[in-house]
Amino acid sequence: SKKTVNEIRSTFLDYFGKNGHAIVDSSPLVPRNDPTLMFTNAGMVQFKNVFTGQELRPYNRATTSQKCVRAGGKHNDLDNVGFTARHHTFFEMLGNFSFGDYFKADAIELAWNLITKEFGISPSKLTTTVFHNDDEAFDLWKKIAGLPDDRIIRIPTSDNFWMMGDTGPCGPCSEIFYDHGDKIAGGPPGSPDQDGDRFIEIWNLVFMQYEQLPSKDGGYERVPLPKPSIDTGMGMERLAAVMQGVHDNYDIDLFQGLLEASAEATGASLKGPQATSHRVIADHLRSCSFLIADGVMPSNEGRGYVLRRIMRRAMRHAHMLGAKDPVMHRLVPALVREMGGHYAELVRAQALITETLRLEETRFKQTLDRGLKLLDEAEAPLAEGQALPGNVAFTLYDTYGFPLDLTQDVLRTRNRPVDVDGFNAAMEEQRKKARAAWAGSGEAATERVWFELKDEVGATEFLGYDTEAAEGAV
Ligand code: ATP
Ligand code: MG
Ligand code: MG
Ligand code: MG
Repeated sequence: SKKTVNEIRSTFLDYFGKNGHAIVDSSPLVPRNDPTLMFTNAGMVQFKNVFTGQELRPYNRATTSQKCVRAGGKHNDLDNVGFTARHHTFFEMLGNFSFGDYFKADAIELAWNLITKEFGISPSKLTTTVFHNDDEAFDLWKKIAGLPDDRIIRIPTSDNFWMMGDTGPCGPCSEIFYDHGDKIAGGPPGSPDQDGDRFIEIWNLVFMQYEQLPSKDGGYERVPLPKPSIDTGMGMERLAAVMQGVHDNYDIDLFQGLLEASAEATGASLKGPQATSHRVIADHLRSCSFLIADGVMPSNEGRGYVLRRIMRRAMRHAHMLGAKDPVMHRLVPALVREMGGHYAELVRAQALITETLRLEETRFKQTLDRGLKLLDEAEAPLAEGQALPGNVAFTLYDTYGFPLDLTQDVLRTRNRPVDVDGFNAAMEEQRKKARAAWAGSGEAATERVWFELKDEVGATEFLGYDTEAAEGAV
């Protein structure tokens, strides 16, 4: 019989536990002590200071199943959701870590034995990559896994060289890919069409062997780390798809439970073109619920605005499926059933999650229908492919509560871009007007401070789109 997601997770943790690793809880999605990072997006995030030596732990090997969100900042997979077989906004990253303990040979051997022996994945379906000049890793894959040369692919790009930031630990990495077969479009890693979904990256092993430091000439230099470390990350949903004999992450047991709940709550079948909407709903239900459980609340800035954007996108898809009443909150019991066993915070926060989703959806419903109607009307006179004027996108944002990316998501399947510069200009125009109106009110003393504050807050409002300082991900 096939292993369920819950069984796969515990097999992974037990395996590394038996091999001397401390089994450590997932850290929250809001990183502690790291204002540069919007959300935890990899297993190594909670260990950053352990890798640099600033923090000591009572173990030098650890394993986790880490909650990750990639819906803002440098790693943003929001637009992939529903369209690729392998991307989520929320996923679990299974990882093992060595803090100056074992290195490359053991990391490769532990990984290979787990997936081919413990999990029984056929070696003939696996391909690995190494950084182009990492002969050591190439030779180890050959020796330990017995892979032929043409299935150890040398990659010269940053995909196979990991850095924590401009300075700090860094090193080459290896990625393990599973070949789902020639019925699916996509080429092997390193080929021009590698972003197809045929060869799916399941595991990424990072060999931290250098430290990058500022050099005298104003650039950077790399020096070998005295005690090299290991950081790995495997997407649990992708592994589960392989283990359950399906290609698509959304076909694994956990997602089937969520998709069925979505079909029931909306009354829309899972088949046909609406499948994408159900997938978006199932995915966004997870990220929204886990974010709320970790203390993020919908708001108009920063993390809360990213949450609001995800929620509203899901709500628009529920609307497309014909749901008349709020839907998202009704799916929470299914999520708790699937994931509450391992993540107790979901159970603890169930009432808060339900109420937050219900409130947000009830409020947004009032403007969603009217906003969509306005959008249709604005589109009617436009030619095929012509951009939606920025001022329309701004009205949708300002009056109807449509985040820019929601409007873009609506128009995506109609192949219509949005004039983003025009949108930003309209936003700036409104700021100026507000400033002028305020200046006229005669409260000169507080006014300057207030506007400086507002500009600062305004600047963080779109954090999710582009700005993010150096962040660590596997
Ligand atoms: P991809 O190239 O497929 O986008 P990645 O190289 O960006 O993946 P890593 O940063 O190496 O991913 O993360 C480690 C592992 O986490 C990946 O090998 C993959 O199995 C999983 N993973 C990464 N992003 C996602 C996602 N958005 N949804 C589900 N799993 C993911
Ligand atoms: Mg990626
Ligand atoms: Mg990759
Ligand atoms: Mg990777």
